[in-house]
Amino acid sequence: MAIVDIALICESGHVINAYSSRIKELNVNYCKDCGKKAISQCPKCHSPIPGGLVTSEPAFLHELIKQGSEYTVPNFCSSCGTAFPWKPERERALEDVINELANLSPEEKAKLTKAIPDILIKTARTPTASMHFKKAMKTIGSEGGKVLRQVILEVAPEVVKDMLGLKV
Ligand SMILES: [Zn+2]
Ligand SMILES: [Zn+2]
Repeated sequence: MAIVDIALICESGHVINAYSSRIKELNVNYCKDCGKKAISQCPKCHSPIPGGLVTSEPAFLHELIKQGSEYTVPNFCSSCGTAFPWKPERERALEDVINELANLSPEEKAKLTKAIPDILIKTARTPTASMHFKKAMKTIGSEGGKVLRQVILEVAPEVVKDMLGLKV
C-alpha cells in the first residue's frame, strides 16, 4: 500500500525534502536558496504537509530521492483549506513578471493577471488560462518569454506546465 510521507518546504515554496520523515539527513531549519524558514506542517492547523509517495517498504533512499524531484508542492492545506505561505508569494512572482513584460497592452496584462490563479492550480479554467499565456509568449518575444517561462516553471504544477508545453 502506498503511504504519503511528510514534506519539508520553505515559506517561499522551495521543496527541501519531500520525504522528511524517511530521509532525515536532508532536513534543515532554513532554505539554502532563499533563507526562509522550513515548515513541515500547516501553520494554522498543524497538520503535516503531505509529501512524496512511498510505494514500497523498506523504501530505497535513491528511489525516494529520485521520486522527490517529481513532487509537486500543494497550494492549500488539505486538512483545513488554508493557503500555504508560498501561495501568495507565487501569485506575486507571476504578477511581477507580467508587469515587467514589454510588448503587452495593459488589457493583455490584465487578462494574464486575472488568469494567474488558474495557472497556479489546475481548475476548469486552466486550459483557457494556458491559452492566454501561450498567446502572450508569442507576443512578448524571446527575452521576456524566457523570464516568464522560468517563473512559470518555478510556480506551476506539472499538469499546468504540460498544458503550456513547458515540460522538460
Ligand atoms: Zn526557499
Ligand atoms: Zn491546515
